[in-house]
Amino acid sequence: MQSKFVIVGGGAGGLELACKLGRKLGPEAVMLVDSRLSHIWKPSLHEVAAGTLDVHQEGLSYQMLAHDNGFTFVYGPMQALDAGQRLVTVAAIGSGEEQILPERHIRYDQLVIAVGSTSNYFGVPGAAEHTISLNATEDAERFRLTLLKRLTLAELKKDGGVDVVIIGGGATGVELAAELREASGVYAAYGFRQLQAERDVRITLLEGAPRILAPLPEKVSSAALSLLRQRAVTVVTDTRVTAIDAAGVTAGDTRYPAHMVVWAAGIKAPDFLKTLGLPTVKSGQLDVDGTLAVKGVAGVYALGDCAACAGPDGKLTPPRAQAAHQQADYLLETFLRQHKGRPPQAGPYVYRDYGSLVSFGQTTSVGSLMGSLKGLSWFVDGFVARMMYVSLHLMHHQAVLGTVRTAVLALARFLIKRSTPLVKLH
Ligand SMILES: Cc1cc2nc3c(=O)[nH]c(=O)nc-3n(C[C@H](O)[C@H](O)[C@H](O)COP(=O)(O)OP(=O)(O)OC[C@H]3O[C@@H](n4cnc5c(N)ncnc54)[C@H](O)[C@@H]3O)c2cc1C
Repeated sequence: MQSKFVIVGGGAGGLELACKLGRKLGPEAVMLVDSRLSHIWKPSLHEVAAGTLDVHQEGLSYQMLAHDNGFTFVYGPMQALDAGQRLVTVAAIGSGEEQILPERHIRYDQLVIAVGSTSNYFGVPGAAEHTISLNATEDAERFRLTLLKRLTLAELKKDGGVDVVIIGGGATGVELAAELREASGVYAAYGFRQLQAERDVRITLLEGAPRILAPLPEKVSSAALSLLRQRAVTVVTDTRVTAIDAAGVTAGDTRYPAHMVVWAAGIKAPDFLKTLGLPTVKSGQLDVDGTLAVKGVAGVYALGDCAACAGPDGKLTPPRAQAAHQQADYLLETFLRQHKGRPPQAGPYVYRDYGSLVSFGQTTSVGSLMGSLKGLSWFVDGFVARMMYVSLHLMHHQAVLGTVRTAVLALARFLIKRSTPLVKLH
């Protein structure tokens, strides 16, 4: 197989680039490789975990996206690279008699690596074995099904309830805690009649820094803290988790019993990137220059969570969907210029922070929006903030589905939500 532009990783950034480039250049020139068959916007995984978003309705098939946007889709995980020969190896799917697809080799002119991130456990004993992370759809589904099982057991035994400990008070941990509280009230209304949400689903959020949402303005942190407290979420800051086992979490001298533990305390680049012979930084991210080209390797670029891109001030671009989206647009322009034989872009990619919104269930959000003047930000909360939060998801859908289908899908989902329980019960 071969393609002029090969993009590995169809997530928040890679998929947008494949769709936009595919619409301009077509399936002969643009190829997307992903280890999964369907796409879901990663910032919505806490909703999948809580059961408020049905992954079977939300997931978008890569084959459909390829057909509609004009790129070629290759199913399978990238496992090796020969940068000298410009050759990517995609692993087989299945093995032996169960093999569905063999190992494949793809020749490229320009390669973009956009494979996202995975959990960083910082060497905490038991973290990898006894926690669930929200890295991918399977993880979020595993959390949801474990929760349903735990709720059923609690209902049958009529004792104890469920203890959920979330480690990490960043956006992922805070959003999951809030969503879970909202969902637990709905579970109580459907079938789990003995369940009293706040009494029986006990949620504890542990954060190592002095405040939750530490990178965001203090006003956002304190608003988030009071919203979590109103929802009976126990928040403990300034605490370091030292070990995790099957029965709970230890933080110094304090023990937190837990039926379910979520790790939302840190991310790193996928380990296989270190085996590709490309330059990486300490976190394992690919070392890229201001044009998002991997340093010293011709024809290889990286974007999103897996790329270490320093801005003019030397600060690394944060691992966020808005950065992945901006970088996808930057590379789109680079490749279109290359394709048309026009000169390269005048300046490097520079991250523009438009602010952060943190979701608190289906009706409210809190966050800050950045002004065009450096350092100026506006605090937003309530329903308006929620609508802005929802619009970010819609903007991603618009980039990959187009305006009309995004509008139709949004309307369909609005109607489905009003005719079915708020949470998925099976
Ligand atoms: C619960 C949650 C909430 C979040 N909320 C926000 C938010 O509100 N705002 C914000 O800006 N950011 C948020 N983020 C962060 C945001 O989701 C990420 O920064 C963003 O998704 C990164 O985009 P990406 O394109 O780099 O990677 P991803 O979106 O993670 O996509 C990576 C893709 O690569 C594929 N892949 C992985 N390995 C391979 C391989 N070997 N071969 C082929 N394909 C592979 C994966 O299947 C996936 O499709 C949140 C994250 C989580 C988990």
